Amino acid sequence: MLAGKTIIITGSGSGIGRAAALLFAEAGARLLLADQNESGVQETAAMVTDAGGKALARKIDVSKEVEVVALVEATLETYGRLDGAFNNAGVQMINKLVEDLTIEDWHRVNDINATGVFLCMKHQIKAMRKTGGGAIVNTASANASVAQPYSGEYVASKHAVVGITRGAATEALETGVRVNAVLPGMINTPMIAGLLESPEFRPRYAAALARHPIGRFGEPEDVAYVARFLLSDQSAFVNGAAIAVDGGYTAC
Ligand code: ADP
Repeated sequence: MLAGKTIIITGSGSGIGRAAALLFAEAGARLLLADQNESGVQETAAMVTDAGGKALARKIDVSKEVEVVALVEATLETYGRLDGAFNNAGVQMINKLVEDLTIEDWHRVNDINATGVFLCMKHQIKAMRKTGGGAIVNTASANASVAQPYSGEYVASKHAVVGITRGAATEALETGVRVNAVLPGMINTPMIAGLLESPEFRPRYAAALARHPIGRFGEPEDVAYVARFLLSDQSAFVNGAAIAVDGGYTAC
Protein backbone atom coordinates (compact mmCIF):
# COMPACT_ATOMS: atom_id res chain seq x y z
CA MET A 1 0.00 0.00 0.00
CA LEU A 2 2.91 2.36 0.79
CA ALA A 3 5.70 0.32 -0.79
CA GLY A 4 8.70 2.43 -1.76
CA LYS A 5 7.33 5.60 -0.19
CA THR A 6 9.40 7.70 2.21
CA ILE A 7 7.23 9.17 4.96
CA ILE A 8 7.83 11.54 7.87
CA ILE A 9 5.70 11.01 11.00
CA THR A 10 5.81 13.70 13.67
CA GLY A 11 4.55 12.93 17.16
CA SER A 12 5.61 9.32 16.67
CA GLY A 13 7.00 8.86 20.18
CA SER A 14 3.69 7.47 21.41
CA GLY A 15 -0.02 7.06 20.72
CA ILE A 16 -1.37 7.66 17.22
CA GLY A 17 2.06 8.43 15.73
CA ARG A 18 3.55 5.19 17.05
CA ALA A 19 0.61 3.12 15.77
CA ALA A 20 1.00 4.84 12.40
CA ALA A 21 4.73 4.05 12.29
CA LEU A 22 4.06 0.35 12.77
CA LEU A 23 1.23 0.26 10.21
CA PHE A 24 3.03 2.34 7.58
CA ALA A 25 6.20 0.23 7.90
CA GLU A 26 4.16 -2.94 7.57
CA ALA A 27 2.75 -1.43 4.34
CA GLY A 28 6.29 -0.99 2.98
CA ALA A 29 7.11 2.65 3.80
CA ARG A 30 10.55 3.92 4.82
CA LEU A 31 10.13 6.21 7.80
CA LEU A 32 11.66 9.27 9.39
CA LEU A 33 10.16 9.39 12.89
CA ALA A 34 10.25 12.66 14.83
CA ASP A 35 9.12 13.68 18.29
CA GLN A 36 10.10 15.95 21.14
CA ASN A 37 10.13 12.83 23.30
CA GLU A 38 13.53 11.43 22.28
CA SER A 39 13.38 8.13 24.15
CA GLY A 40 9.80 7.54 22.97
CA VAL A 41 10.63 8.07 19.31
CA GLN A 42 13.74 5.90 19.57
CA GLU A 43 11.60 3.17 21.09
CA THR A 44 9.13 3.46 18.19
CA ALA A 45 11.98 3.21 15.66
CA ALA A 46 13.28 0.11 17.46
CA MET A 47 9.79 -1.43 17.36
CA VAL A 48 9.60 -0.79 13.60
CA THR A 49 13.09 -2.18 12.99
CA ASP A 50 12.37 -5.26 15.13
CA ALA A 51 9.30 -5.90 12.99
CA GLY A 52 11.49 -5.83 9.86
CA GLY A 53 10.74 -2.24 8.83
CA LYS A 54 12.98 0.75 8.09
CA ALA A 55 12.92 3.78 10.40
CA LEU A 56 15.19 6.49 11.71
CA ALA A 57 14.38 8.48 14.86
CA ARG A 58 14.99 12.18 15.41
CA LYS A 59 14.28 14.57 18.27
CA ILE A 60 12.42 17.66 17.12
CA ASP A 61 10.33 20.56 18.32
CA VAL A 62 7.88 21.16 15.47
CA SER A 63 7.35 24.76 16.53
CA LYS A 64 11.00 25.62 15.68
CA GLU A 65 11.52 26.23 11.97
CA VAL A 66 15.25 25.41 11.98
CA GLU A 67 14.48 22.00 13.46
CA VAL A 68 11.75 21.34 10.89
CA VAL A 69 14.12 22.29 8.06
CA ALA A 70 16.78 19.96 9.50
CA LEU A 71 14.23 17.12 9.72
CA VAL A 72 13.28 17.42 6.06
CA GLU A 73 16.97 17.73 5.03
CA ALA A 74 17.84 14.63 7.04
CA THR A 75 15.04 12.74 5.28
CA LEU A 76 16.34 13.76 1.84
CA GLU A 77 19.92 12.91 2.82
CA THR A 78 18.93 9.49 4.14
CA TYR A 79 16.35 8.37 1.62
CA GLY A 80 16.84 10.77 -1.33
CA ARG A 81 13.17 11.77 -1.53
CA LEU A 82 10.02 12.57 0.42
CA ASP A 83 6.65 11.12 -0.63
CA GLY A 84 4.42 11.59 2.38
CA ALA A 85 4.04 13.09 5.82
CA PHE A 86 1.77 12.50 8.79
CA ASN A 87 1.92 15.66 10.89
CA ASN A 88 0.62 14.33 14.16
CA ALA A 89 2.64 16.09 16.90
CA GLY A 90 0.44 18.02 19.26
CA VAL A 91 -0.44 18.97 22.80
CA GLN A 92 -3.72 18.78 24.68
CA MET A 93 -5.91 21.55 26.02
CA ILE A 94 -4.92 23.46 29.14
CA ASN A 95 -8.32 23.10 30.84
CA LYS A 96 -9.15 26.73 31.55
CA LEU A 97 -12.03 29.03 30.74
CA VAL A 98 -11.16 31.41 27.91
CA GLU A 99 -11.24 34.29 30.38
CA ASP A 100 -8.50 32.59 32.44
CA LEU A 101 -6.15 31.73 29.56
CA THR A 102 -2.88 33.65 29.51
CA ILE A 103 -1.18 34.76 26.33
CA GLU A 104 1.53 32.19 27.15
CA ASP A 105 -1.12 29.42 27.31
CA TRP A 106 -2.45 30.55 23.93
CA HIS A 107 0.99 30.56 22.34
CA ARG A 108 2.10 27.23 23.81
CA VAL A 109 -0.81 25.28 22.33
CA ASN A 110 -1.08 27.21 19.06
CA ASP A 111 2.69 27.26 18.44
CA ILE A 112 2.80 23.45 18.51
CA ASN A 113 -0.61 22.43 17.13
CA ALA A 114 -1.10 25.10 14.47
CA THR A 115 2.28 26.70 13.70
CA GLY A 116 4.01 23.33 13.94
CA VAL A 117 1.74 21.86 11.27
CA PHE A 118 2.20 24.92 9.06
CA LEU A 119 6.02 24.77 9.33
CA CYS A 120 6.12 21.04 8.61
CA MET A 121 3.85 21.41 5.58
CA LYS A 122 5.80 24.35 4.20
CA HIS A 123 9.08 22.45 4.09
CA GLN A 124 7.60 19.06 3.23
CA ILE A 125 5.76 20.46 0.20
CA LYS A 126 8.99 22.07 -1.05
CA ALA A 127 10.77 18.73 -0.77
CA MET A 128 7.93 16.70 -2.35
CA ARG A 129 7.72 19.00 -5.38
CA LYS A 130 11.28 18.03 -6.32
CA THR A 131 10.18 14.48 -7.08
CA GLY A 132 6.75 15.15 -8.56
CA GLY A 133 4.56 15.53 -5.48
CA GLY A 134 3.19 13.48 -2.62
CA ALA A 135 0.58 13.42 0.12
CA ILE A 136 0.25 14.99 3.56
CA VAL A 137 -2.10 14.10 6.41
CA ASN A 138 -2.48 16.44 9.38
CA THR A 139 -3.95 15.45 12.73
CA ALA A 140 -6.67 17.90 13.68
CA SER A 141 -9.42 16.84 16.11
CA ALA A 142 -13.18 16.55 16.49
CA ASN A 143 -12.56 19.94 18.07
CA ALA A 144 -11.94 21.27 14.56
CA SER A 145 -15.72 20.84 14.07
CA VAL A 146 -17.24 21.22 17.52
CA ALA A 147 -16.19 22.71 20.85
CA GLN A 148 -16.71 22.26 24.56
CA PRO A 149 -15.86 24.37 27.60
CA TYR A 150 -12.30 24.69 28.96
CA SER A 151 -10.54 24.24 25.64
CA GLY A 152 -10.79 27.46 23.62
CA GLU A 153 -7.09 27.66 22.75
CA TYR A 154 -7.08 24.00 21.65
CA VAL A 155 -10.29 24.30 19.60
CA ALA A 156 -8.78 27.33 17.86
CA SER A 157 -5.53 25.50 17.13
CA LYS A 158 -7.34 22.53 15.58
CA HIS A 159 -9.58 24.75 13.44
CA ALA A 160 -6.34 26.28 12.17
CA VAL A 161 -5.04 22.82 11.22
CA VAL A 162 -8.10 22.24 9.02
CA GLY A 163 -7.75 25.75 7.61
CA ILE A 164 -4.14 25.33 6.49
CA THR A 165 -4.98 21.81 5.23
CA ARG A 166 -7.69 23.20 2.96
CA GLY A 167 -5.52 26.14 1.91
CA ALA A 168 -2.66 23.89 0.81
CA ALA A 169 -5.06 21.41 -0.82
CA THR A 170 -6.27 24.11 -3.20
CA GLU A 171 -2.69 24.45 -4.44
CA ALA A 172 -2.41 20.77 -5.44
CA LEU A 173 -2.37 21.44 -9.18
CA GLU A 174 0.73 23.60 -8.71
CA THR A 175 2.48 21.53 -6.03
CA GLY A 176 1.41 17.97 -6.84
CA VAL A 177 0.75 17.44 -3.14
CA ARG A 178 -2.60 16.22 -1.79
CA VAL A 179 -3.36 17.43 1.72
CA ASN A 180 -6.01 16.03 4.07
CA ALA A 181 -6.80 16.08 7.77
CA VAL A 182 -8.01 13.43 10.21
CA LEU A 183 -10.26 14.60 13.03
CA PRO A 184 -10.02 12.09 15.89
CA GLY A 185 -12.45 11.99 18.76
CA MET A 186 -11.13 10.91 22.14
CA ILE A 187 -8.39 8.35 21.51
CA ASN A 188 -6.76 6.14 24.16
CA THR A 189 -3.28 7.71 24.07
CA PRO A 190 -0.86 8.85 26.77
CA MET A 191 -2.15 12.37 26.11
CA ILE A 192 -5.72 11.37 26.99
CA ALA A 193 -4.57 9.22 29.90
CA GLY A 194 -2.94 12.32 31.38
CA LEU A 195 -6.09 14.31 30.83
CA LEU A 196 -8.28 11.63 32.42
CA GLU A 197 -6.08 11.69 35.52
CA SER A 198 -6.49 15.42 35.97
CA PRO A 199 -8.96 16.34 38.72
CA GLU A 200 -10.48 19.06 36.52
CA PHE A 201 -11.41 16.59 33.79
CA ARG A 202 -12.59 13.55 35.79
CA PRO A 203 -16.12 14.87 36.42
CA ARG A 204 -16.52 15.37 32.65
CA TYR A 205 -15.42 11.80 31.72
CA ALA A 206 -18.93 10.29 31.49
CA ALA A 207 -20.14 13.19 29.38
CA ALA A 208 -17.16 12.77 27.04
CA LEU A 209 -17.84 9.05 26.62
CA ALA A 210 -21.54 9.73 25.97
CA ARG A 211 -20.52 11.95 23.07
CA HIS A 212 -19.09 8.86 21.28
CA PRO A 213 -22.20 6.93 20.14
CA ILE A 214 -20.10 3.93 19.20
CA GLY A 215 -19.75 3.35 22.95
CA ARG A 216 -15.99 3.66 23.45
CA PHE A 217 -13.08 5.99 22.94
CA GLY A 218 -10.89 5.31 19.89
CA GLU A 219 -7.66 3.35 19.70
CA PRO A 220 -4.54 4.82 18.03
CA GLU A 221 -4.87 2.26 15.21
CA ASP A 222 -8.37 3.56 14.38
CA VAL A 223 -6.76 6.83 13.28
CA ALA A 224 -3.59 5.30 11.83
CA TYR A 225 -5.58 3.13 9.38
CA VAL A 226 -7.28 6.23 7.96
CA ALA A 227 -3.99 8.14 7.73
CA ARG A 228 -2.40 5.17 5.93
CA PHE A 229 -5.21 5.20 3.36
CA LEU A 230 -4.87 8.96 2.87
CA LEU A 231 -1.12 8.60 2.23
CA SER A 232 -1.60 5.76 -0.24
CA ASP A 233 -2.41 6.02 -3.95
CA GLN A 234 -5.82 4.46 -3.20
CA SER A 235 -6.93 7.93 -2.04
CA ALA A 236 -5.64 9.66 -5.19
CA PHE A 237 -8.89 11.68 -5.56
CA VAL A 238 -9.18 12.68 -1.89
CA ASN A 239 -7.82 16.18 -1.36
CA GLY A 240 -8.73 18.90 1.14
CA ALA A 241 -10.90 16.50 3.16
CA ALA A 242 -11.39 16.78 6.90
CA ILE A 243 -12.27 13.22 7.88
CA ALA A 244 -13.90 12.50 11.22
CA VAL A 245 -12.50 9.44 13.02
CA ASP A 246 -14.59 9.87 16.13
CA GLY A 247 -17.13 7.08 16.54
CA GLY A 248 -19.91 9.48 15.57
CA TYR A 249 -18.99 12.26 18.02
CA THR A 250 -19.47 15.09 15.54
CA ALA A 251 -22.58 13.48 14.01
CA CYS A 252 -24.40 14.03 17.31
P1 ADP B 1 -1.82 11.43 20.04
O1 ADP B 1 -1.35 10.03 19.93
O2 ADP B 1 -3.29 11.60 20.19
O3 ADP B 1 -1.24 12.29 18.95
P2 ADP B 1 0.05 11.73 22.12
O4 ADP B 1 0.18 12.61 23.29
O5 ADP B 1 0.20 10.30 22.38
O6 ADP B 1 -1.33 11.99 21.43
O7 ADP B 1 1.03 12.18 20.97
C1 ADP B 1 1.39 13.48 20.72
C2 ADP B 1 2.87 13.42 20.44
O8 ADP B 1 3.32 14.71 20.06
C3 ADP B 1 3.65 13.00 21.67
O9 ADP B 1 4.49 11.92 21.36
C4 ADP B 1 4.44 14.25 22.02
O10 ADP B 1 5.72 13.98 22.57
C5 ADP B 1 4.58 14.92 20.67
N1 ADP B 1 4.85 16.36 20.78
C6 ADP B 1 4.28 17.25 21.61
N2 ADP B 1 4.79 18.48 21.44
C7 ADP B 1 5.72 18.36 20.44
C8 ADP B 1 6.60 19.27 19.78
N3 ADP B 1 6.64 20.57 20.10
N4 ADP B 1 7.40 18.80 18.81
C9 ADP B 1 7.38 17.48 18.47
N5 ADP B 1 6.58 16.58 19.05
C10 ADP B 1 5.76 17.00 20.03
